[in-house]
Amino acid sequence: MKCPFCGAPDTRVVDSRLANEASQVRRRRACSACDARFTTYESPLLNMPMVVKNDGSRDAFDEQRVRNGMMRALEKRPVSVEQVEDAMGHIKKQLAILDSREVPSRQIGDLVMRELQGLDHVAYIRFASVYLSFEDIASFGELIKRLESEPTPEMQRRQVPLIDDEDA
Ligand SMILES: [Zn+2]
Repeated sequence: MKCPFCGAPDTRVVDSRLANEASQVRRRRACSACDARFTTYESPLLNMPMVVKNDGSRDAFDEQRVRNGMMRALEKRPVSVEQVEDAMGHIKKQLAILDSREVPSRQIGDLVMRELQGLDHVAYIRFASVYLSFEDIASFGELIKRLESEPTPEMQRRQVPLIDDEDA
């Protein structure tokens, strides 16, 4: 690694140890030319990307916040905690394999919508109505029409008959 002080192409590692509960390797380096010392940290790039909000500001990816958003939409819906955790796993995996340092918050919202669509249509519509912008409202109307004509994920799972013949 190049020396950050004099730009010499060669520096040597003088010390190497685990840091932050062994999730990182901390290396002390010395420049062969000017003898300056500096520290580098090596960590796996499994870290979630930073979230870029609509106003351009950045925030650390907050798993709990995403989960809370889903749970709010799923309030009193027939979806188990386990299903929510599975959905969270899918979302995190999608973000991790992006191999990107930053992701627009919009993209995370889209991932949540995709998961909710497969879990529960009511929750999906609840989430979408909060999350989508005004420009999307027109297409949102189309979306609701389309969902009304489709069997719900719950029906598909339980194969509930469309007509209740209890009174027949
Ligand atoms: Zn140097």
